[in-house]
Amino acid sequence: MERYSHFIDGEPRTGGAWRPVFEPASAEVYAEVADGSESDVLQAIDAAETAFPAWASLPPSARARWLERLADALEARLDAFAAAESRDAGKPLALARDIEIPRAIANLRFFAHAATQFASESHHGEAGLNYTLRTPLGVVAAISPWNLPLYLFTWKIAPALAAGNTVVAKPSEITPATATMLGELAAEIGLPRGVLNIVHGTGPAVGEPLVLHPAVKAVSFTGSTAVGRRIAGLAGPHLKKVSLELGGKNATLVFANSDWRAHLDTLLRSAFQNAGQICLCGSRLLVQQAIYEEFREALVERARALQAGPLDDPATRLGAMVSQAHFDKVLGCIARARVEGGRVLTGGHALDRPGWFIAPTVIEGLGPEAITNREEIFGPVVTLQPFEDEAHALALANAGDYGLAATVWTRDLDRAHRLAAQLRAGIVWINTWMTRDLRTPFGGAGASGLGREGGLEAMRFFTEPKNVCVALR
Ligand code: NAD
Repeated sequence: MERYSHFIDGEPRTGGAWRPVFEPASAEVYAEVADGSESDVLQAIDAAETAFPAWASLPPSARARWLERLADALEARLDAFAAAESRDAGKPLALARDIEIPRAIANLRFFAHAATQFASESHHGEAGLNYTLRTPLGVVAAISPWNLPLYLFTWKIAPALAAGNTVVAKPSEITPATATMLGELAAEIGLPRGVLNIVHGTGPAVGEPLVLHPAVKAVSFTGSTAVGRRIAGLAGPHLKKVSLELGGKNATLVFANSDWRAHLDTLLRSAFQNAGQICLCGSRLLVQQAIYEEFREALVERARALQAGPLDDPATRLGAMVSQAHFDKVLGCIARARVEGGRVLTGGHALDRPGWFIAPTVIEGLGPEAITNREEIFGPVVTLQPFEDEAHALALANAGDYGLAATVWTRDLDRAHRLAAQLRAGIVWINTWMTRDLRTPFGGAGASGLGREGGLEAMRFFTEPKNVCVALR
């Protein structure tokens, strides 16, 4: 059986305890992962502290070359990483191979360039010459979730390393495969020891000691809002920098004058990609009254046709829920929707096959006050709500505590930009979904998080600014 060890000070390590890793498509154990504890965290922090001075003093171009080498090594193993990600997270192989692992490679390359392009501001004027130095923070923590395992892992470690920090990363204990494999690649390319450390284990046993340790200067976290609040509470008294990318309950606004029929594929993906286990999926579909019935019919028909076959079959569109607990949670949310008065138009049940698969589910008949429309479900479950006009759509979209993403489908340019300004969301898509320039700020408002990642935002988060003021005579 496969075993996933920690990666500390340039080599695999274990404390001797293991926990099972499940294959979501079969619900069977296929591997074991090191079940870390505080002592593993201390070893990793120690290694990262030792490695920091030399790594921080490398010229940015040298750090960029290391990230490029890691990206090259990952690219050379793309198929193996995609297969591992698909098995570990229960997602269609094509999704891992064509989108997620390539994106992990792109993250490493993008921030390799950022290392050399990141410029600080300077002002020349009455107050003399002011310029800003940006120095790395030291040891930083990266805590990532299970839904896009390597994609989000690299989205954190790449800017942290590019900016000159050393890293202790904690991937989700549910999906440890590809982070472990990336550690092996780091050793293979000879990345200096201690620069990147990976400790596996649960949030309470590994995540919390990592957040609390005084040597850890910043915590970059992606995961649920509940855990984000917990981390903010732990880090607050120590005045540590935190970046929190949390849950969402995103609205998709479909106006009668949009080309929705031509974009049904994208609309379907935005609802059900990765079986709805993407923080950016649109789980609340708001549809203008005039096209509501037509749209509902088309959506239900397409949702019903989404195939859950073998993960390596290119025709497979639907993956599994990542764990038994998550499978139970999503089915519980569907049951609650029925109790709240929701009508299940399609789906609403587990698939009759091994593994944690749930049929794509469309629910109507619930208003903005329903818990189903307020709480994140994070599964293949969407609700439909009709709206009358733009003001009504905006009120429905902005209801609730989250503020991560929103998508607007319309041909009316004025309306699109008006709504973009008024929607409470960190990301607004107009007539598209999920595309993004990596230079742009990424993150959410309200219960969706604190701070932004991406481009300069990430480089700023992972550095400490110092202004220098020089008298000019
Ligand atoms: P989670 O919060 O349960 O876990 C995320 C990570 O935090 C895991 O590595 C976990 O082990 C760790 N953790 C758990 N408890 C901890 C604690 N007390 N201290 C420190 N670390 C702890 O989230 P999940 O179930 O893995 O992921 C799904 C959630 O992530 C969803 O809510 C989803 O919306 C969110 N998400 C957000 C984004 C975004 O960019 N906004 C992206 C992906 C996922």
